[in-house]
Amino acid sequence: MNTTKKPKCLIRIQGITLKSIDYGEYDKILHVFTREEGILHLIAKGANRPTSANKTGSQSLIDAEFLTEKKGEGHSLHVCREITPSDYRLYLRDDIDKLRTGCGLAHAVLRSQIPEHPAPPLFSLFHIYLDRIKVSANMPALSASFALKLLRYEGLFALPAGCSECGHFFPDGFFSEKLFYCADHRPEKSLFFSEEEFQILFLLAYSREISLIESLPISPELIKKIEIALY
Ligand SMILES: [Zn+2]
Repeated sequence: MNTTKKPKCLIRIQGITLKSIDYGEYDKILHVFTREEGILHLIAKGANRPTSANKTGSQSLIDAEFLTEKKGEGHSLHVCREITPSDYRLYLRDDIDKLRTGCGLAHAVLRSQIPEHPAPPLFSLFHIYLDRIKVSANMPALSASFALKLLRYEGLFALPAGCSECGHFFPDGFFSEKLFYCADHRPEKSLFFSEEEFQILFLLAYSREISLIESLPISPELIKKIEIALY
């Protein structure tokens, strides 16, 4: 019998929990977004017990340091020993709109990223937008802008130079399946974007100035259109 035990690889890693799922009676599975490792799946044993020191830190959208037993290749669930919160982000818990926006950003990252694939630029962008929720008066613009920048990061969206069929440039036009078309070449199920809507879309996706993004007149109808045409 082989009794040689491999030494445990304990690491301390800074991250933010995007999703926290109850598991069994007392455990939690955390999807933690880290700069160095991308999304890590951790099991925090006993974190759901009322007396657990890890109970608060295992909630969603709290920045923390995770003392983790990192398993080697082929393992996708690592054991989290200890959670030390560094920022509780209480502003998200004070206001349902802010919390909803924060959860929306987290969800966008979760559905686009494969676990354990580092994405440092996205990690930075996520923190900039999550921090901004604290003072922002235009949550819909923040959400739409983050989603568009995420698509850009993934190479799934770029503002077109012209119609996908004929290449001609028009100040307005139609979107279908993330592609742009002129009136002559629009597919059956496409959505019209006016020149003004087009400019808003451009600024949401490309502007680095968050105050400018927040000043955009973004209507619920435009949000709906962006969601249907581009996500
Ligand atoms: Zn065309």
